[in-house]
Amino acid sequence: MEDPSPKNASSPPNWDSIDEDIFCPLCAYNLRGLVEPRCPECGFRFDWPELLDPARRLHPYVFEHHPESNFRSFRRTLWGGLRPKRFWQSLHPAQPSHPRRLLLYWLVASAVFCVVLSLSLIIPNAISLASRNRAIRQVMNTPNDPGFVKMVVQSHGSLDAYYDEIAPPVASWAFLVSLISDTFPALIPLMICYIAWPWLTFASLMVFRWSMRRTKVNPTHVIRCVVYSFDAAMCGVLLIMGVELTTLCLAPGALYYIVPVTASLIVIGSIVVMAFRVYVAYKRYLRFDHPLATIIASQIIALLGLFNILLLLGRVL
Ligand SMILES: [Zn+2]
Repeated sequence: MEDPSPKNASSPPNWDSIDEDIFCPLCAYNLRGLVEPRCPECGFRFDWPELLDPARRLHPYVFEHHPESNFRSFRRTLWGGLRPKRFWQSLHPAQPSHPRRLLLYWLVASAVFCVVLSLSLIIPNAISLASRNRAIRQVMNTPNDPGFVKMVVQSHGSLDAYYDEIAPPVASWAFLVSLISDTFPALIPLMICYIAWPWLTFASLMVFRWSMRRTKVNPTHVIRCVVYSFDAAMCGVLLIMGVELTTLCLAPGALYYIVPVTASLIVIGSIVVMAFRVYVAYKRYLRFDHPLATIIASQIIALLGLFNILLLLGRVL
């Protein structure tokens, strides 16, 4: 049988020796008979071997393609994304997308992010609350004002009941409730930002898809770009947790000024890294024109959307 592969990446294949139809991986346009390696429907530029070589359709490690080793493929996908140029060169639109696996990847990354974020806020809050309550109990343990004692006993039944209410001990339900009510006002907006940001980015990129005459591009590919770029937030929060635990072990007194400053820098760094990764995805994976301008505009739109969500949340809460 004659070799259907082109002599080089841009020369046309021998269509007479290819039995199956070959479709554009972004918009599913039938490319059979074409000479130029460019989809006339969506403008996607490719090399013929990327579409014709079946061996290239399975990615070596990405989570979507390897359900047989979930933990390993998750770890390797997360790690691979830290080198976005290499990652987005290795992943090609012709490698089929599996939306359920993609969603599962995002849900697992989000669950890990939310748990680690909660712990990173709860641990310092718990230490601070326990130390405050201990101090209150020590100061108020021996009240010498009989009028005050009488008033407290009348209103709370006993001095201990009063202390348990205003400064509950660590191993108590009241302490847990107090800890949660102290932590939630910061935790909820951060979680909402984390969950909303990638999808606001996706929505804004869909707008640009229309304005750039790339309407035929399957949205799954845009979701792929967003999910494999925004998982960097998980690495960011793990880094914050690492800084927090290290500070707790080495210099606990510095916890309340080293960690907030470091965490702010890591958050800013993570946002820049995530935007850069979407930019690389748009440049090397979707091969859009003007990827930098597109991503900057999409992030401004996403940021405005987030402000609106937080304003709305502020009114509701
Ligand atoms: Zn196309």
